[in-house]
Amino acid sequence: MLKAIYPGSFDPVTCGHLDIIRRAAKLVDFLVIGVLKNNAKTPLFSADERVNMLKDVTGHLENVQVKSFEGLSVDFAHREGACAIVRGLRAVTDFEYELQLAQTNRKLAPDIDTIFLTTNLQYSYLSSSTVKEIAFFGGDISGLVSPEVAQKVIEKIKEKQNEQNRTVDQ
Ligand code: ADP
Repeated sequence: MLKAIYPGSFDPVTCGHLDIIRRAAKLVDFLVIGVLKNNAKTPLFSADERVNMLKDVTGHLENVQVKSFEGLSVDFAHREGACAIVRGLRAVTDFEYELQLAQTNRKLAPDIDTIFLTTNLQYSYLSSSTVKEIAFFGGDISGLVSPEVAQKVIEKIKEKQNEQNRTVDQ
């Protein structure tokens, strides 16, 4: 059985991620999406919130599971019994970083291969950061994330802005 992991921050999951998930799920027998709990980054959403959003948007895909993990992707892959790591490539700018990551992972775990899927051109500009920035300034994020994710992003940003306003007022 060909099992792969798709690790990432997914803060939040975008239509670009979803496109990679759908296509990867057709290529492999089983796909585990790994939501990284990374202490070096301050995400907008907690790991549990990111996992739940991913579960909502991938619930219809029978061979896809969503989990959170800490530490190295290759260790997560070993724990899951996966032999491959799926990553998405948007543009040349992703390539250098992703190549370095793949070579490092190969060195750490020669039994695990990286599968690169190139983005659907329609999403080549799309990142979680772009979504957050547009939403922060009140722009329209429909079409960039699913409607249920859009709702959660808008609510969360409002919550953060209210928190900031309260701090300024004090
Ligand atoms: P990370 O913090 O690990 O880069 P991301 O959630 O930003 O996590 O991305 C996870 C993976 O999905 C990465 O391989 C990234 O290149 C890919 N990805 C992100 N956005 C897109 C997109 N719009 N199209 C295709 N792949 C994407």
